[in-house]
Amino acid sequence: MSDEIKLSLEESHALVAEACRANGISADHARTIADTVTAAERDDCKSHGLFRVPGYVEAALTGHADPEAVPVVEHPTPGVVRVDARRGFAPLALEVGRVPLVEKARGQGIAALSIVNTLHFAAVWPEVEVLAAEDGLIAFAFVMGGSDVAPAGGTKPLYGTDPMAFAWPREGRPPLVFDQASAASSRGDIMLHARDGKPIPEGWAIDAEGRPTTDPAAGLAGAQLPFGGYKGAAVGLMVELLAGALAGGALGYEQESTDPDYGGPTVGGELMIAMDPATCAGGRGSPLDCAERLFAKILEQEGTRLPSDRRYAARRRTAVEGITVPRPLYDEIDRLRQGA
Ligand code: NDP
Repeated sequence: MSDEIKLSLEESHALVAEACRANGISADHARTIADTVTAAERDDCKSHGLFRVPGYVEAALTGHADPEAVPVVEHPTPGVVRVDARRGFAPLALEVGRVPLVEKARGQGIAALSIVNTLHFAAVWPEVEVLAAEDGLIAFAFVMGGSDVAPAGGTKPLYGTDPMAFAWPREGRPPLVFDQASAASSRGDIMLHARDGKPIPEGWAIDAEGRPTTDPAAGLAGAQLPFGGYKGAAVGLMVELLAGALAGGALGYEQESTDPDYGGPTVGGELMIAMDPATCAGGRGSPLDCAERLFAKILEQEGTRLPSDRRYAARRRTAVEGITVPRPLYDEIDRLRQGA
């Protein structure tokens, strides 16, 4: 028997949604989780694809998430929309927050979406990409959660892996998007190395005694490191402040689970900012045309590519070929689908 199984994107979506539904996750949460997980598989972002499904189910079954939570939308000012996810998963909170965010950004030139009380363990790029691709907006997203990364010079976990994502719309093409953890890697990537029995690159983590390690298990037990030393740590600090202190009302380390057996994400916050290029432009011609000149200059240099080009290439490939899933992971999710 092959150790990999091939699935179409539709089959992947159905598998995820059914595994969620069989474990008490509401239809709306199941659908939106399946959307984000399948988008990650489609774009070859395996650390936030099917690999995450057991974690969503675990969060629901252990009570860390409310799997039937209905997010509540509030409008504190004309430029801000706030969504209380009520301990629900982030994809549904983002879906309900998107329409008012777009309306406010179009009306005022700039608007913010603040999401509180949510469990976020998805890739962030789908959230900004859709605003640029479908709504023509420039978008930023900042997500906080957990306490896995040492501050610059420190040896103990304090910050979350704290990703931020950015999207810029392009005429007649998919947007330019980047999405990066402020740690040297996502935690999911270290978990995938542990699962596959592979060493992690130097610079990703230190062990519990603060020594550099390439052992993924030792790195998970110790602390992850920020990317680029103190510069990445400063980005992580900013994300903690924007998504934690500001949007979430609490920092990652303040929201850790008290359950030692639970390894998944806990409740946190997210901040999104959307800008309308039509109203924010400075007057020296089209900002989108100006951006295209920069992108062309980048690509003139051998060895370059734009962030998101790898994903878009994977997207074209998986639309035809589907995705491959390690057999043990498929079997695990299939058991969840059967309620086992
Ligand atoms: P990567 O280091 O893999 O990639 C970061 C960004 O750099 C991507 O946009 C990538 O584009 C781009 N990039 C990579 N190589 C190049 C290159 N040679 N030239 C130009 N651009 C390049 O991401 P991370 O490991 O930091 O994060 C992975 C994922 O983990 C993210 O999606 C993040 O949202 C997620 N995450 C989620 C968390 C959560 O709590 N929800 C926590 C932490 C991380 P491309 O995609 O095209 O390769």
